Amino acid sequence: MDDLEKLLAETDIAYRRDCTLAELTTFKVGGAADVVFYPESVEQCAALIRLAGQAGKKLVFLGNGSNVIGSDRGCRDWIVLSTRLTELSLGENGRICAGAGVKTVKVSSFAAQNSLSGLEFAQGIPGTVGGAVFMNAGAYGGSMDQITVKTHYLDETGRLCVLEGKEHQFGYRESFFSRNPGCMILSTELLLTPGNAEEIHGRMEDFRKRRKEKQPLEYPSAGSTFKRPQGDFAGRLIEEAGLKGYRIGDAQVSEKHAGFIINRGCATGDEIMQLIRVVQERVKERFGVDLECEVRYLGEK
Ligand SMILES: Cc1cc2nc3c(=O)[nH]c(=O)nc-3n(C[C@H](O)[C@H](O)[C@H](O)COP(=O)(O)OP(=O)(O)OC[C@H]3O[C@@H](n4cnc5c(N)ncnc54)[C@H](O)[C@@H]3O)c2cc1C
Repeated sequence: MDDLEKLLAETDIAYRRDCTLAELTTFKVGGAADVVFYPESVEQCAALIRLAGQAGKKLVFLGNGSNVIGSDRGCRDWIVLSTRLTELSLGENGRICAGAGVKTVKVSSFAAQNSLSGLEFAQGIPGTVGGAVFMNAGAYGGSMDQITVKTHYLDETGRLCVLEGKEHQFGYRESFFSRNPGCMILSTELLLTPGNAEEIHGRMEDFRKRRKEKQPLEYPSAGSTFKRPQGDFAGRLIEEAGLKGYRIGDAQVSEKHAGFIINRGCATGDEIMQLIRVVQERVKERFGVDLECEVRYLGEK
């Protein structure tokens, strides 16, 4: 029994030691993860934070892995998946409470079933509620900051805390949590507006259709690789810089939508990172614009 097994013997939290970052992410790249935990309750999450503190290990929280690039060298930190925090309930006056691990698409459909509007934009965003709050996910004019009223989380010491309204510090693809990545989001309360179910479903369908037409959904990716620069679109700049279809190994700037880097099959994390740097350099040279990565790096440098 190694040291980690001795420590893990003290908990009843489900875990895996045979997992790769490729399996945990929609980009499908990345090497071995030393250990991945699947806590099912607030108590298990808090116990895990304390255990990691005792073991001197860093925790990395992950939802559906749809906004990350896995390192080819894997991850020595403990990965905590929130995918088993799946509470979903309807409150009073247009409120929905969702566990961090519930898929955003599921909450959006649940809202529509209950004739609540405000989360239509989330149709087609393949992440969890935790990831959406962390990233302040958004599309087609809607975003999490417009509907998020309260979030329960654990701080770095395992203490249960609450954020309300402006305390979320939402900005473009950022939040209190992106500034404090040692905190674990547990659940979020959303405030939606009563609407007409048929119209809500219509808008959802329209967004799904637009994505299918414009985005390279047939290939693994993490969505838009770069944040939108002020007053412009990353995809337009990349295309104008002549990089549409540009390829390093199996990492490619999508021919369908230059804002997406895709995995043509066997890309590595390093190839994707090299391609990101080439795109940033060329766009800087040509337009003087710094493209900032929206996608986050996971694992060993
Ligand atoms: C095809 C495609 C289309 C996309 N379209 C959009 C779009 O239109 N708009 C948009 O905003 N994004 C889009 N994305 C990106 C991505 O889906 C979103 O950012 C999503 O909200 C990430 O959720 P996730 O659960 O996958 O987060 P992950 O990728 O698992 O994590 C993202 C970040 O959040 C942190 N995190 C996750 N869960 C927790 C938690 N419980 N506690 C603390 N930290 C946590 C992670 O540490 C990480 O830093 C797209 C991605 C793909 C593949």
